[in-house]
Amino acid sequence: MSKYSLASLVRHSLTGHRHWPRVLRQAEPRRSYDVVIVGGGGHGLATAYFLAKKHGIRNVAVLERTAIGHGNSGRNTQVTRSDYFHLPSSRFYEHSLRLYEGLSQELNFNVMLSQRGKINVAHDPHELEILRRATNACRMNGVDGEMVSTEDLYRLMPLLNRHCRFPIVGGSVQWRGGISRHDAVVWAFARAATQLGVDIIQGCEVTDFLRQGSAVAGVETTLGPIFAPRVCLAVAGHSTQLARLAGVELPLTSMSLQAMVSEPVKPLLNHVVLSSKVHVYLSQSDRGEVVIGGGADIYNSYAQRGGLPVMEANLQATVELFPAFSRLKLMRQWAGTVDISPDTSPIMGLTPVDGLYVNCGWGTGGYKAIPAGGDTMAHTLATGRPHPLIDRFDLGRFAAGRLIDEGAAAGVAH
Ligand SMILES: Cc1cc2nc3c(=O)[nH]c(=O)nc-3n(C[C@H](O)[C@H](O)[C@H](O)COP(=O)(O)OP(=O)(O)OC[C@H]3O[C@@H](n4cnc5c(N)ncnc54)[C@H](O)[C@@H]3O)c2cc1C
Repeated sequence: MSKYSLASLVRHSLTGHRHWPRVLRQAEPRRSYDVVIVGGGGHGLATAYFLAKKHGIRNVAVLERTAIGHGNSGRNTQVTRSDYFHLPSSRFYEHSLRLYEGLSQELNFNVMLSQRGKINVAHDPHELEILRRATNACRMNGVDGEMVSTEDLYRLMPLLNRHCRFPIVGGSVQWRGGISRHDAVVWAFARAATQLGVDIIQGCEVTDFLRQGSAVAGVETTLGPIFAPRVCLAVAGHSTQLARLAGVELPLTSMSLQAMVSEPVKPLLNHVVLSSKVHVYLSQSDRGEVVIGGGADIYNSYAQRGGLPVMEANLQATVELFPAFSRLKLMRQWAGTVDISPDTSPIMGLTPVDGLYVNCGWGTGGYKAIPAGGDTMAHTLATGRPHPLIDRFDLGRFAAGRLIDEGAAAGVAH
């Protein structure tokens, strides 16, 4: 597979860009692999890449029932940040952001990371105090963050409402936070993984597990059985359904999380901005669309649609923060099925069933975790022991009461 570079761009331009090689090798499933990863989203693909790259385990298949990136990894609002409150989260997400910072070079694919700053606005003194506490925690954990005054906020975002129903009293910012391009991240990992010999098999749904005694020994799929001593589930909103087939109950609920974009307009918002109070977050994509997200729908669902009330609430909140946006036309709306755990933190690592590993519970915020999720799960699969950065995110924490309650710490997850 050719390397992307300025020279290759010029060379291919001479032949009208008609001879670029295929990005993905078309793979047929083999009878057995060393590792099978279920789910061709960012986490499954990144895990496969790091298994091949860092651990030399290349006899790996990623099985995807539709097409890669058609799950949440291609549906999110692309926010990339590491300003988490609790130490285990802070270490993990900071590792992820650092990997993101070198990802385009690592994978030879422009993931369009734009560290434009992620701003939280506070609408009352109590909220400001919570932001100050969170910012202090970040700094103590070695993660960048600072407080910003109301004047700074209006300077940074001139269209921000000066007459909010809940007056804006200040905020905080992580300048290294921002966005990157979600489908580029998926394709970058997929391309790099296939280059190292990983089989990515699309249109292959896992329907059951093969057993050897009590251990998992492979998967039953719509393309036939595939044997593997290690199987990793990275299927987001479908984690409970699949794990249950192997006898593992996961404490997850599946809900719709929506996003929407306006028509494209000239640059008017230079940062990612979040308000927990009115409950919306916004950014402007490189194409000019205002990207809008909020909380999950309040009922369980596997539909990748989402209901009208949350959409309406997100738009009300958008107009409350930026009254001028009321003149924008809404262009598209969609949703993904997110897997939410009781403490809104992920579940990663081994399960009570030998041979079965899980990477799930990302809920509304697993896009930013893709590089670190892949790196640490690859280590866990290769060694049979949890990577030190994820040992606190084990399934056992729910029985032991060792919760990492980031939802409560952050007020809103994304
Ligand atoms: C609207 C929205 C906005 C979001 N915004 C952000 C954000 O700004 N920042 C952030 O960090 N996170 C965000 N997230 C969350 C983030 O997108 C997810 O946490 C992350 O993409 C999960 O990646 P994944 O690889 O685990 O899952 P997915 O990308 O969903 O991949 C799972 C794959 O498994 C496949 N699959 C399912 N069942 C089977 C089966 N039986 N056999 C084979 N394959 C199967 C699915 O088809 C799917 O492709 C958002 C999510 C949504 C929906």
